[in-house]
Formats: sequence, structure tokens, C-alpha cells
Amino acid sequence: MDDLSLPKINSLDLQQADSEAWDAIAAERIRQSRSIELIASENFVSRAVMEAQGSVLTNKYAEGYPGVRYYGGCANADAVENLAIARAKALFGCAHANVQPHSGSQANQGVYLAFLEPGDKIMGLDLRSGGHLTHGSSVSVSGKWFQSISYEVDARSQLIDMDQVRRIALKERPRLIIAGGSAYSRQMDWAEFRRIADRVGAIFMADIAHVAGLVAAGVFPSPVEHAHVTTTTTHKTLRGPRGGMILSADAEIARRIDAAVFPGLQSGPLMHVVAAKAVALGEALKPAFRTYARAVVDNARVLCDRLSQGGLSVVSAGTDCHLGVIDLRPWELTGKAAETALEQIGITVNKNAVPGDGARPLVTSGIRVGSAACTTRGMGADEFREIGDMILATLGGIRSGTMNARTLKSIHEGVSDLTGRFPLPY
Ligand SMILES: *Cc1c(COP(=O)(O)O)cnc(C)c1O
Repeated sequence: MDDLSLPKINSLDLQQADSEAWDAIAAERIRQSRSIELIASENFVSRAVMEAQGSVLTNKYAEGYPGVRYYGGCANADAVENLAIARAKALFGCAHANVQPHSGSQANQGVYLAFLEPGDKIMGLDLRSGGHLTHGSSVSVSGKWFQSISYEVDARSQLIDMDQVRRIALKERPRLIIAGGSAYSRQMDWAEFRRIADRVGAIFMADIAHVAGLVAAGVFPSPVEHAHVTTTTTHKTLRGPRGGMILSADAEIARRIDAAVFPGLQSGPLMHVVAAKAVALGEALKPAFRTYARAVVDNARVLCDRLSQGGLSVVSAGTDCHLGVIDLRPWELTGKAAETALEQIGITVNKNAVPGDGARPLVTSGIRVGSAACTTRGMGADEFREIGDMILATLGGIRSGTMNARTLKSIHEGVSDLTGRFPLPY
């Protein structure tokens, strides 16, 4: 077994220069390597992506865009940004890509700044139905500076109801319609969203922050040809560095987006992150990434099936992507209690609101699970079934009040066995 106390990358310099920061990072490396990561928005980047992100490009200011910079010495920055742009365009089949947004939230704000005035009306999926904070939640700038209305999933099917979307859009006439979410596990009817947007004269923005890697690999439908503009993160299923991207087809839209991102919203791009985006996009263009993405979806289905066979309730009765949302109300557990219990045995999930959830946001009635990270480690159907059983045993134990130290220890040993068999590359 390798020496887990020593991070393999840049370890000696950092350890000697700053042992306090190093201690925290080394401990995090151990946590990641020894736990089963089911947080649906997380993944493990390759060593190549990490090396690019830890490179000398962190020293460089490159305000502007390739060929049009406000600083000297940008030739290498231009080369790496052009690489990221070309690869993003090839991967998603679009005419234009802005790879500078620092995050998924910044990408969305870039679109808002490009097309909206304060007070304009935006329409997105409700948070409890699986939407994202940046789609108009009252606690986010998207809900504070814009008039926000939302659509929800159907109470029975827990699927987005396009008739409801159309009805609300026709009545409210939003300036921007947003599709996509963080905890919605089903395909979306991108074409119908566009038709509705056209009927009311709205801009249609698809946010594929979660499913971008699956879209890139062709295992989840792409909105790129339907949406006026598509936003994404680069660090979830796409498996790149933390960051955002904005894709579009139309030159006029692209011009507005570029101006909104810089100088509208950001100054210097994070060139080391742009470089890491280029590397990750290059990886996603390779055939092996397609195999990975297919396994991600298969594994999420295996996990959801196992949990539902074990008596847990899966929102919308399944998944088309890498994530599943589990409704714990039938077992009378909160998301918070489940998250804490699973953390004790080394399985990391996040509490998550479910459709119609009455619990507070820091408590919730559900958890969200995802397969992207453990699939990167090489785990397959057998391992995901095993993970499902460990979740069922843990939650079943706290539900019935029969959980004891011995059972906990034996489940934890199962986790250690799995993580030991599928090591991380750093
Ligand atoms: C994760 C996510 C974002 C935000 O990304 P950050 O990089 O955390 O800002 C935006 N939209 C959706 C749908 C997301 O899932």
C-alpha cells in the first residue's frame, strides 16, 4: 500500500514551506482516497489536468481574448485558450465557446448580463424540483435582481411537465427561459423548451452543468442545437478543473456573451484553469471518455435500482444520467440525518430537497447520489450494487434504531475494502 501521508504532487516544497496548509491538503487527500464519493457534482481529475492547473500559467494576466489582450506576453496564454476553445467547439458541436467563466455561476451571470436588464423576468426549474440557485432563487443574485418565476415537476410523475412550462411561459412572458438543474435525473425536452421560448420571444438558456460530460460523450441528449445559449461547469461529469463555459451558435449572441464575461463580469481569466480546461476537453474527445460516460449512466442506474429494490423511494422512479435523488420521507428520515450517518461509514452524499419538500434547506427530506466520481476510480456494476447495500444497511439501521458499533464497523470495513481496491492516481 502506498504512503497516504505524502501527497505525490508537489509534496516536498509545500510541506517544507507551509506545514499548516500542507497538513490540511494531505488530510483531504486521505479523505478523498478513503471515502466513497457519491456527491453528484464531484469527480476526480486526471494527473494531467491537475498538473496544468498547478502550472506557471497561474502567474499570468491575460485580460481580453486570444489575439486581443490588454497585457503583453500573452502568446502562450493565447495558444492554450485557443486550444480550449477549439476543443470545446469540437466536443459540443457549436460555433462559439467562451472558456473564461470562473465557475458555473459566473457562466450563468454572464448570460444574464448579456441579455437582461435588472427587473426582467426569468423562468427556471424550482429548487425543490431539482433546479439550481442561480436559476432565480430568492437568495441568489438571479432572484434578487430579476423577477423570478419557476416551473415545477409534476407531483405524481415527478417529471417536468411541458404543458405547465408552456402555460406559465405564455402567461408570464419571461425574457429568459432556463432549462437544466442540479438534482433532476431525467432527460429534458430541449426542442420543446426552444419552441416555447420562440412563442413568447424569450431567450432559451440550457444549463448542462451536471450532464456536460454525458452530453459530450453522446450518452445524454445535447441542447446545443436548440438553445440560444448553453452554459456549463467543467468540473462535474466533464471531469475537468473547477470552472465554467458558455457555448453558442450565433455570432451576435457570441459577441454579447464575450463582452458580458469580460469586461462585464470578470477581469483576468484564470489562465491555469483555462489550460486545465483544454487538457480535460482533450481527454473528453478521446474514445475512452465515451466508455467512461456510458459506465457512469449504467452505474447510476444500478445504484438507483438497488436502493429502490431495498425499499427506498427514488424520485421520478429512476435516472437517465449520473445522479439519483432519494426521497427519505417514507422511511421518516431527514436528508441531514442520512448524510451524517453515511459520512460515519465513509460514504459521502449530500442532503437534498425533494419535490414538495417541507423541510428546511439545511435539513431536507432527501439525499442526492451520483456515480461520476467512483466510476472514474474504476468501480462498476458490482461495486455500485455493494455501495447500494451499504447505504441500505446504514439507513435501515438508523431507521429501526438497531444500528450498533459492530455493524457500523463492518460496513466501514466494506468501504475501506472498496477504496483500497480502486485507488486514486494521486
Ligand atoms: C453546479 C451548478 C452550477 C454552478 O456551478 P459553480 O461552479 O458551483 O458555480 C450552475 N448550474 C447548475 C445546474 C449546476 O448544477
